[in-house]
Amino acid sequence: MKNTKVFIVGAGPAGAAASLQLAKMGIACVIADKAVFPRDKVCGDGLSGKVIAALNRIDPEITARLHASPFTLNSWGVTFASPGRHSLDVGCYPGYDSTGDGIREKPMGYVCTRLEFDNFLIEEIKRCPQIELLQGVCIDTYERVEDGYIVTDDTGIKTKADILIIANGAHSSFTREIAGITMEPKHYMAGVRAYYQNVQGNHPDNFIELHFLKHLLPGYFWVFPLPSGRANVGVGMLSEAIRSKKIHLKKTLLDIVKNDPVFKERFKEAELIGGIEGYGLPLGSKRRKISGDRYMLAGDAAYLIDPFTGEGIGNGIYSGRIAALTAASALKENNFSAKRMAAYDAEVYRILGPELKLSYRIQQLVRFPWLFDKLIKIGSRNKQLRELLSGMFYEVNLRKKLTKPSFYVRMLLNR
Ligand SMILES: Cc1cc2nc3c(=O)[nH]c(=O)nc-3n(C[C@H](O)[C@H](O)[C@H](O)COP(=O)(O)OP(=O)(O)OC[C@H]3O[C@@H](n4cnc5c(N)ncnc54)[C@H](O)[C@@H]3O)c2cc1C
Repeated sequence: MKNTKVFIVGAGPAGAAASLQLAKMGIACVIADKAVFPRDKVCGDGLSGKVIAALNRIDPEITARLHASPFTLNSWGVTFASPGRHSLDVGCYPGYDSTGDGIREKPMGYVCTRLEFDNFLIEEIKRCPQIELLQGVCIDTYERVEDGYIVTDDTGIKTKADILIIANGAHSSFTREIAGITMEPKHYMAGVRAYYQNVQGNHPDNFIELHFLKHLLPGYFWVFPLPSGRANVGVGMLSEAIRSKKIHLKKTLLDIVKNDPVFKERFKEAELIGGIEGYGLPLGSKRRKISGDRYMLAGDAAYLIDPFTGEGIGNGIYSGRIAALTAASALKENNFSAKRMAAYDAEVYRILGPELKLSYRIQQLVRFPWLFDKLIKIGSRNKQLRELLSGMFYEVNLRKKLTKPSFYVRMLLNR
């Protein structure tokens, strides 16, 4: 039986971030993934500013290498379209000017396939001699022993670890069976994603587009441009609404592309590449206990996806990094008790909690199509509101304003 201080299950963004942060601190670890990279992951492929900020905290050189990579497409903003089809372009920072006169210092983020992004992180892992990377290794049992956990893979190989970081995504059996967190339809989303070639009418600055079509609320249809004329196109919706409205997401996506008055024109020349794939999004709209005796959950395994935007890569990286920092101090103190590990929960929710809470409130607000329409309509004529929305990507305090009734009253009076 092998021994390690830290064993990480899953080498997606959350697990990779944990291993890279541990390596940065000189702590050896083992990281195992059931897939062999490069591998696909169903996702919108949108890497927001949060992903960049989180990677920067681990090592700015990683961000610099990502920025220089040929597979990312710079995205300079977001287009929000309301249920009444009013759309609002929000540049990535205050002062952004869609005429091209604004200063373009740093993109809001990137769009790049998860096949390439996750493989980029694997290449970063390979640069670190402290990390033992196991690919094609599925961990299927966990046994708590007196002084650690023994994990067993599907070939029967056992490894003993002082501490586990569980980062094996939305369908984690550890999350369900050991941490006791179960799926609740009102705190869970489902999404489907397709790749298309030749979608017309994309924004010249590669804005990502979120279309809050009336029958999808509280969810949306997205078009995210990718390099080489491709686009990631998808639909995401709250599982509760999917059940109550009996929605079939794949059919819904195809129906929008073929029959919607706006999209049927934009997709006239478009060609579907490959199939339409679906996956779950465990939302952080409720606080959970995400650590216990000798373990921490990170990323989707910890239910940390933003309930409004559906973003989870940035929160995955943040939580993976915090898990590594917490593991380092637990190892120093030789204390892995549930009480000690609870410091992880406190830190994750200190950093991500306020934003998750606000996004949940915004998710609830967008159920009122008339309010959403009004806001977008006013925003398209009101520079102040556009700037506010633009700042919203960086500043939680600005997002707070959006959840206060007084904000809407002022907007309606001042328009
Ligand atoms: C349709 C859709 C669209 C989305 N769009 C976006 C978006 O545009 N931007 C964004 O930021 N987020 C988006 N998300 C969310 C994002 O995909 C996730 O939040 C993110 O992948 C979480 O990273 P993770 O490392 O926690 O998990 P994952 O990326 O799921 O990685 C988990 C890893 O664990 C491995 N694994 C699983 N089980 C085992 C096991 N038993 N043993 C070993 N390895 C195992 C898997 O192979 C995988 O590599 C979207 C999600 C969906 C479903």
